[in-house]
Amino acid sequence: MQKIQDAIRNIPDFPKAGIQFKDISPLLKNPLLLNKAVELLVDPFRSKKISAVAGMEARGFIFGSLAAAKLDAGFIPLRKPGKLPYKVNSSSYELEYGSASLEIHSDALSSGDRVLIVDDLIATGGTALASCELVSGLQAEVVACAFLIELDGLGGREKLRDYPVHSIIHY
Ligand code: AMP
Repeated sequence: MQKIQDAIRNIPDFPKAGIQFKDISPLLKNPLLLNKAVELLVDPFRSKKISAVAGMEARGFIFGSLAAAKLDAGFIPLRKPGKLPYKVNSSSYELEYGSASLEIHSDALSSGDRVLIVDDLIATGGTALASCELVSGLQAEVVACAFLIELDGLGGREKLRDYPVHSIIHY
């Protein structure tokens, strides 16, 4: 666990002043640590009959795809507006300044799907809550949300109070 934490680099004032950006690049290039991190991410869900992992653009695609492979599940991309080519459902959420949205293909999931939502990091939880709404909006069940990193004290866990939250590293 300490080695995984040591492979996450802190970049002060990126992308703007006051943000401590958690750079996962050193972890991604280390085969043993990357594999271990994904194991820790999926371990609580191995017996939960997950049918699909949904991951948010862009770093959720990396951990979400690796998690899906370990769980023998499919992968559903949640994308920024205008990227998905077929019919979409959208969900908007608040950012510090303004708002953003995510989209899912409207035929990506259906009732009976058991979904694990995966991203690299949870801060305020807005991105993850919008993702939960997209999945529930297609009548699929959100089994849990899993993150490599949780920034404690920003209210993310409280915002996701209706869902189990699993995170490996806390700051
Ligand atoms: P939030 O919606 O506030 O929970 O923000 C989570 C999303 O923003 C995730 O997709 C993260 O990749 C990204 N993010 C937010 N804060 C940071 C940070 N300090 N370092 C790296 N990524 C971040």
